[in-house]
This record gives sequence, C-alpha cells and structure tokens, in this order.
Amino acid sequence: MSENRDKATDQMKFWKESRSSQKTDILTTGAGVPVGDKLNEQTAGPRGPLLVQDVVFTDEMAHFDRERIPERVVHAKGAGAFGYFEVTHDISRFCKAKVFEHVGKTTPIAVRFSTVAGESGSADTVRDPRGFAVKFYTDEGNWDLTGNNTPIFFIRDALLFPSFIHSQKRNPQTHLKDPDMVWDFWSLRPESLHQVSFLFSDRGIPDGHRHMNGYGSHTFKLVNAEGNAVYCKFHYKTDQGIKNIAAEDADRLASTDPDYSIRDLYNAISDGRFPSWTFYIQVMTFEQAEKFPWNPFDLTKIWSHKDYPLIPVGRLVLNRNPVNYFAEVEQLAFDPSNMPPGIEPSPDKMLQGRLFSYPDTHRHRLGANYLQLPVNCPFRTRVANYQRDGPMCMFDNQGGAPNYYPNSFSAPDTQLCFMESKFRVSPDVARYNSSDEDNVTQVRTFFTQVLNADERRRLCQNMAGHLKGAQLFIQKRMVQNLMAVHPDYGNGVQELLHKYNAEAQQKAVRVYTRGGASAAASKM
Ligand code: NDP
Repeated sequence: MSENRDKATDQMKFWKESRSSQKTDILTTGAGVPVGDKLNEQTAGPRGPLLVQDVVFTDEMAHFDRERIPERVVHAKGAGAFGYFEVTHDISRFCKAKVFEHVGKTTPIAVRFSTVAGESGSADTVRDPRGFAVKFYTDEGNWDLTGNNTPIFFIRDALLFPSFIHSQKRNPQTHLKDPDMVWDFWSLRPESLHQVSFLFSDRGIPDGHRHMNGYGSHTFKLVNAEGNAVYCKFHYKTDQGIKNIAAEDADRLASTDPDYSIRDLYNAISDGRFPSWTFYIQVMTFEQAEKFPWNPFDLTKIWSHKDYPLIPVGRLVLNRNPVNYFAEVEQLAFDPSNMPPGIEPSPDKMLQGRLFSYPDTHRHRLGANYLQLPVNCPFRTRVANYQRDGPMCMFDNQGGAPNYYPNSFSAPDTQLCFMESKFRVSPDVARYNSSDEDNVTQVRTFFTQVLNADERRRLCQNMAGHLKGAQLFIQKRMVQNLMAVHPDYGNGVQELLHKYNAEAQQKAVRVYTRGGASAAASKM
C-alpha cells in the first residue's frame, strides 16, 4: 500500500530516513534545557491543581498561544519553492543590473504561488487570479518581481485596491462570499472587464502552479550602464505547457483535495521533475510610449506582442522544496520596491501604490526587522546602513559601526553610479479620473481573436454561472458593459442569465407553493 503513496504524503517517513544518526535527540525547552517528562503536568497530587513552577508546561503553552501571525490580507493561500534564474540571452544593452550581467550567470530565487481572495485554508482550485512572485537574491540586493499569472489587473488606480479586495472577500455581516458585492464593484468599474474576461476564461483555473505563465504585469523601467532608459514588461512562460482545470473538476477537487496545487508542486520537485519558465522582456522606448494608443502604464492593458515582441532573457527553475513551510513560505515577504540598480519603477499608479503597501504590510505581519529573517535577507550581499534596533533584531545589529549619517568614521557611504535615472514630470497635481479611458478595445481583441468559439462559449457559461447570483439590476449593468465589448459577448451571457433567472423563479414558486400548502394543511 505504501508504494502508492506520493512524496508529499510520505514526508515524515523520508525525514526519519534522512537522519544520519538514528539516535533520538534530547527533548528540550525553548531555552535548550533538557526535559524529563513531556506527557504529564506537574501537579499537587494526581488530581491537581497545576503548579506555576511547571515551566515545561508554561514554556510550551505560552509559545503555542503565539503561533499564528496575521494572515496575508490577499494571497493568503500559497505554495513556495526555491531554485535559480539563469541568463540565456544578453540584455545588457537595456539593463545594467548584475542579475543579467552575462550569459550563463545564475542567481538563486525563491518563488511563491498563491490564490488571491481565499483564506490560508481555502481550496486551491478556485477561479481566482494566481500570484506568481519571484525573489532574486542578487549580488546587489534582492529584486522582487511580485507578479501574477495574468499580464493585467482589475483596476488601474491603487486607491481602489482596498475596496476592490473587500468586494471579493466576505460580506461584513453574513461573513459569506457575496456575488452582489463582487459584481456590483466589477460592473461599476468597467476597467476590470479585461481581467474579468481572463478570469472567466479557461485560464481562470490553472491546473496547479506549474502549468501557468507568470507576468511582472506592471510596466517597469530598465536602465543601461550609459544611463539610457527604456520601459519594460516581464513575462515568464511555462515550459510545462498551459493546462487548465474544467470548472466541474475544479469543484470536485475543492472538496476531495483542497491542497491540490501545493501537493502537485511539492511532488514534482521531490520527484526531480523541476518546473521551469522561460523569461522574456518586452521593451518600449520613451518615444514609443508617447505615441502608444493607450496609457503604457495602465495595468489593465497589455502591450501587443506584434508591436513589442518578446525578447528572450533566461529561465527560472525550481529545484528545492521548502525545508519548513512557516519559516520559508509563510514568512517569505515580497516587495516590489526591492529593485537593484538598473531596474526602476514606471509611473504605473498601481505599481506606485504597491511600492508603499507591500513593505508596510510586512512590517505589520512580520515586524520592522522582517528583512533579517533568513528567507528574506539579501544573503548575496552585506547590508550596511543606519537602521538599528526594533523588535526581534537578529545578528549583531551592525556592531559598533556609527548609527548616524553623515559621519567622519569611514562608515557606509553612497556611490554616484547607483543613482536612479533622472526623469522629468511637469503636469498639474490633481486626482485624475481614469475610469472612462478605453476599457473595451483590448477585451474585444481577446474575445474575437484570442479565444476560439468553444472558449468563448465556456467564457459566457462560466461568467453567467457566477453572475446569476447577483441582483437583477447588477446583472443588467454587467451585461451592458459586455455589450460594449461585443454583442456576442453581451448576448451570450444575457441568454444564459434569462435561463438561470427563469429556473430560479420556478424553483421559488415551487417552494412557495409547497410552503403555502403545508401551512394551510397545518391549520386544518
Ligand atoms: P498575441 O496573439 O501575440 O498574444 C495573445 C496572447 O494570448 C498569447 O500570449 C497567449 O498566451 C494568450 N492567451 C491565449 N489564450 C488565453 C486565455 N484564455 N486567457 C488569457 N490569455 C490567453 O496577441 P497580442 O499580444 O496582440 O494580444 C492580443 C490579446 O491577447 C490582448 O488584447 C490580450 O487580451 C491577450 N493577451 C495578450 C498578452 C500580451 O502580453 N500581449 C498576454 C496574454 C493575453 P500563450 O502564448 O501563452 O498561449
């Protein structure tokens, strides 16, 4: 029987076998003090009470009481793995970052895949975007590419992010997922149409984490050694091939194997089937950006491959499972503001918002010194700065080095070659409304040119199957938005909604009639 068990299921067995010495370790308290009995409290007599001096008990229980750290507000359910990034093509003409220094160079990476809206115990096979975040431990500090499995996102202005996420999570009173909230927000914000269409297409439920693409999604800036800059997007395409799960199978898996994607990744790596992705960039000059028909920094838009072809750069390979989930995955913290010299932010409003919110949330979840945790620390370089102290300060706190700047004692100093590139901004400061920018053209291309007839049919089915749970006026507003993309899209969803609404009404009448009849009978 045990021959049929996979590597994830047999982890305990392998751990035991991996130990060089079969001698049992001495059990200790958290302070390393040997323990004589870990099964029985120290009590006055066999029936108690318990003594305060039972530090074996208090040491254990007090730590247990503090085991949980705050769950991530988004991307709470995730899987992580480690590996390397290898440069296969030279892009030094665009970027001076040492991670791209020469063909053949490898850099260690950590990757975390996740769903977005569910809690940390939720099912893996839900229809939801997937997080695909990569941490490169480079010679010049960490570079975090906090991407997704989609090249776009639902909104383009970060001020909307908390409300958007609230609408996808639980109703404040019922604590239930609420289709009214979901579709009210999406139908009121038509810039979400592109991402909502991706979400309800086949790629909305990837088959595990290995069979999906990743995208840096935002527009970034690359700067070369001469100080010349271009805008850039990052793509990492799966070498395993795209594979998705049909909606019915996903529903079944959600109850039979809710950790399907974590298990799949763990077993693939344990079996030596190391997943990999080919890493590309798209590049846009500043002149091209001026002429681009849309805002090139709008996170709801892609750059067409035809106009901005994918340029191969390297590959990401995952070849090590975490040694401990909490230490290496739950505490793994990505921050898009971690960029080595040569990689810079664009004006993308969503990216700019994330530059603030990611490190802010880590300081809340993990504490001010979260960058000292082994999985987050930039171990390929040495941190030298004027930050000191704070809770859980590890290592030597930079010893006796001066803790103020400037100083006269040869302490860490800046170098001009690491200065960010200069750029000009001159517009008026205001709260610019971006909601009525073109929200449909790229969605129309997706619907008419990327999807085939069967995929379009499934998109309409998947969407109507969820939208039917929202109130009628919300359904109508959403269908109107879809009509603006393409009449076949709007009509396809509307026809199904008519059918579902009629079925729901019939069911309600049957329940009412039965209820009325039995009430009448009970009075007789
Ligand atoms: P291309 O034909 O060159 O690219 C189409 C892209 O669509 C391919 O990257 C393909 O990915 C991807 N794709 C195929 N099926 C799906 C699906 N069900 N869900 C999401 N993506 C899918 O055309 P363009 O670059 O001009 O883009 C045309 C449209 O394609 C865009 O408006 C956008 O909606 C969509 N798209 C574009 C991407 C981009 O970065 N340019 C990326 C993803 C989608 P693959 O090659 O892996 O099969």
